[in-house]
Amino acid sequence: MVRATIPLGRVAGIRIGAHWSALVTLGLFTYLLGRSLTDAHGNSVAVWLVAAAGAVGLFASLLSHELAHSIIARRSGIRVEVVVLWLLGGVSELGDEPKDPRSDLRIAVAGPLASFTLGVALFGMTGVVAATVSGPVPEMFGWLAAMNLVLAIFNLIPGAPLDGGRALRALIWQRTGDRLRASTIAARSGRIVGLALLILGGVELLLVGAGGGLWLMLLGWFLYSSASAELTAAGLRHRLGDTRIRDVMTEHPLSVPATWSVADLLRSQIVHTDHRVFPVIDTVGRPIGELGWSDLTELSVAARETTAVGEVARPLPPTARVSGDELLSTVASQVVLRRDFDVITAIDPHGRLIGVVTATDLTLAVQRSALGLPARRPERYRPPDSEL
Ligand SMILES: [Zn+2]
Repeated sequence: MVRATIPLGRVAGIRIGAHWSALVTLGLFTYLLGRSLTDAHGNSVAVWLVAAAGAVGLFASLLSHELAHSIIARRSGIRVEVVVLWLLGGVSELGDEPKDPRSDLRIAVAGPLASFTLGVALFGMTGVVAATVSGPVPEMFGWLAAMNLVLAIFNLIPGAPLDGGRALRALIWQRTGDRLRASTIAARSGRIVGLALLILGGVELLLVGAGGGLWLMLLGWFLYSSASAELTAAGLRHRLGDTRIRDVMTEHPLSVPATWSVADLLRSQIVHTDHRVFPVIDTVGRPIGELGWSDLTELSVAARETTAVGEVARPLPPTARVSGDELLSTVASQVVLRRDFDVITAIDPHGRLIGVVTATDLTLAVQRSALGLPARRPERYRPPDSEL
């Protein structure tokens, strides 16, 4: 999951954001297009401005691709969290998985269809522009048209998380009625595609020495790891169903202020609980780290008074800070939870801590679900009162 760090407003009611790494891509494509334009039209500021406009156009194209997915998803009754532009393109973060194979297929093909339509329209415009002006502008339009067609075709490669992989999943799901099997096959083929791109990029880098090889390797690695996470998620999802973080988390968890000294912590009520790992919070209650008893064993007795909890806490990975509405299976496939060592923290819209999920909570939820019991942790059992 890529976090949007730069808000870009809303389109059709859908929140748009960019990750800082999108700037790298913007720069890279300006450079690549600019170099090819200067070959034909000479090196001038105007040519580089046209190249920059082309790179911005490419991002607008990526955005329309993602918006097509998101709009169809919303029409199928799925909540769209945000569309994020980043280093390797765009991501639509959906609040839910498609409920049936038909909507799964529709959402998957909407993106490539939008890119294809845009590509064809831009080719038409290239002709019109070329008839009216000369210079680098028509060439930029042609490049943008070609990029949109490449985007449509590349995304149709049948391996999840690419759109083609999603379509493959939908078709197998429709045919067999077995969603787990469909997701597994789509994710496995996604891993193969990722691995193939990784090798292809490596070969290109070694033989041609081109930067494009590095790009391909990066893309391959991303696809491979995303497909692997999807494989885990599919299995977990099969077992955990629609269980959300909210269903298994401990509400109002004990947390430790980062400003406390380790000695304060050891003098507090916390030592009398059976918890072995705690979220560490900042002054407004946002979780910033995690701390287990095992993190403190190295510290000398003398250092306990002078060491702040914030100094010994391990930073919380961004994937371990989630909304209570997120699917447990999705989060669990992205975070490695070690027993007595890690927590997933649930936060409110202001980023403040509202709950925690530990490895024990997760194991219990998986086991209870496997037995057909509700994943929600039962209230503390009280034997029936016999004295009534
Ligand atoms: Zn797509």
